[in-house]
Amino acid sequence: RAKVDGTGNDAYYTAEVAVQTRERVRLLQDLRAAFDSRRLFIAYQPQIDLLSGRVVGVEALLRWRNDEGQFVSPDQFIPVAEQSGLIVGLGAWVLRTALGAQRKLAAAGFSLRMAVNVSAIQFRQPDFISLVETALADTQVDPAMLELEITESVAMYGWGQVQERLQGLKKQGVSVAIDDFGTGFSSLSYLDRLPADCLKIDRAFVSALDSDQSGARIAEMVIQLGKRLGMRVLAEGVEDAAQLQTLIDLGCNEAQGWYYAKAMQEDELSGWLASRR
Ligand code: C2E
Ligand code: MG
Ligand code: MG
Ligand code: MG
Repeated sequence: RAKVDGTGNDAYYTAEVAVQTRERVRLLQDLRAAFDSRRLFIAYQPQIDLLSGRVVGVEALLRWRNDEGQFVSPDQFIPVAEQSGLIVGLGAWVLRTALGAQRKLAAAGFSLRMAVNVSAIQFRQPDFISLVETALADTQVDPAMLELEITESVAMYGWGQVQERLQGLKKQGVSVAIDDFGTGFSSLSYLDRLPADCLKIDRAFVSALDSDQSGARIAEMVIQLGKRLGMRVLAEGVEDAAQLQTLIDLGCNEAQGWYYAKAMQEDELSGWLASRR
């Protein structure tokens, strides 16, 4: 019940929270229904090696068009899926489907690394390593062609477990990327303890390249840091030629972004890849 104080702020706040809660419940119901009836799909965004200019990988990005025909952003529904635990089943489906697509692309002559986002909740499931193993075995994808994207937030669940998981993946030959680097809460010291193969510079730092000098300095630092730690560095959200040139000058290894292509469904991706060949 809304409590009214002198300012009226509490009443407003309480009503607001109630609306938000109802919206989340609704969103979760709709998402579950969409998942159950196979109305979710995956779009793939190309990742380009800056030295050769060749497409070396794609990132699998979940897509949901709701009953009204509107796209709902993953930034909106992934958190809801995480809070409800739905992300575990959803994530397993994404992994399998993306690996299936990798296999098909490889058969068509496009041998590309498949990058799959893994939420911290998925990552800490006791059977996560065996889930990955089984998905690779079932789809017959070379483990070296799989890259799992995790964020700094996995580090919140205890170091022993995280390192053990990462070692397990490494043993299989799967690679790991740190996504959205620089936006999380963790200190730099954890990076040294995460055996990752790739550091993804967050889009925020790439877009800051245009506007100011400090944007370029941060991007430069991240690139140096990744390289010093023996990682590949991939810039996300590259939108124009000027950003790309700066990243090349700074020694960045790979890039993805609208400058090259948005995420595409399988058919469109095949066409796009063929046209670049
Ligand atoms: P992310 O993994 O950092 O993915 C990059 C996001 O940047 C994607 O947003 C992509 O469409 C967008 N992007 C790429 N290039 C550009 C560009 O040049 N300009 C701009 N403005 N944006 C660009 P998207 O697809 O909306 O996904 C948002 C986030 O949702 C992802 O961020 C990821 O954290 C999460 N997500 C998406 N699919 C999955 C999934 O299957 N599982 C999990 N756990 N999370 C997912
Ligand atoms: Mg990602
Ligand atoms: Mg990212
Ligand atoms: Mg993100």
